[in-house]
Parts: sequence; C-alpha cells; structure tokens
Amino acid sequence: MKFIADRMLGKLAKELRMLGYDTVYYRGENAYSLIESARGEGRVILTRSTQFTPERSEDRIVRIMEDKPSLQLRELIQRKIISLHEEPLFSRCLLCNVLLAEIPREEAEGKVPDFIFYQQKDFLRCPQCSRIYWQGSHQDHMKKRIEELLGKPTA
Ligand SMILES: [Zn+2]
Repeated sequence: MKFIADRMLGKLAKELRMLGYDTVYYRGENAYSLIESARGEGRVILTRSTQFTPERSEDRIVRIMEDKPSLQLRELIQRKIISLHEEPLFSRCLLCNVLLAEIPREEAEGKVPDFIFYQQKDFLRCPQCSRIYWQGSHQDHMKKRIEELLGKPTA
C-alpha cells in the first residue's frame, strides 16, 4: 500500500515511512494535482480535509479524523488501514521516502558519531540525501511509538 499525505499530515507521513510505507508528502495546496498524482502512482490519499470525494472507482481517500499528530498513526492502525508488520520497518529515508541501501561499514566512519561507529555493525545510506542510518537511529524512537500505540487503551 502506498500513500500520499496532504500538507496537514507531515508528521504522519514521516511515521509511515518509519514503518516502511512508501509515502509521498504533498506540500502543495492544489487538490486537483494531489488527486492526479495519487491516481498516477496508485496511492491512497490521506487527508484532514473534507474537500476530497472519490470521483472515480480507483480513487481511494482516507480522511484522518484525529487532529493530534501523535494519535494519527494509531488511528490508521485501529481502522486497519495499515498494520505494523506489513512493510519492512526502518527501510526508508524519513526525509526522502526512498529505500535505504546497505553500505560497507568503513564508509560510515567519520560520518556518524565515533561511539556509534564502534557500537554498530551495519549502516545504511539514503541514495538521495546521503544521510546515514543505523539500527538505533530511528529504532529507539519508533519502538517507543509502537509501544505507545499498542499499549494504551483506546480513549
Ligand atoms: Zn534521504
């Protein structure tokens, strides 16, 4: 499942990438071009707005009801639109949405803090922005988020 998130949903877009979902963040204001790119790439539209209505059978629009960014991911899980193990976790750049590539360990030396370099065995790099990721880099944050999502009873 691939998504396109509207400009109200930047945080959600990042969190979906963390879970491995291919998610475009659309910063523009033109609803028509958002719908066009969703159609062109077969993406599900995520929006807070009420102005989107499906016009064609292929249009898939999910209206996010929750206005707190910290609760929007949980909303998607609770509505069974996503599940936690559908896509490989931590496989995408959070900024660029592209798949990370493994790099030889030596290439990370000097580009990550020394203590990280000595602690970690495997490094990944974003082919687009060259940012380097490792096991702990977004995992700790995400583990906490996932625990929050699963641990807390529904309000
Ligand atoms: Zn990147």
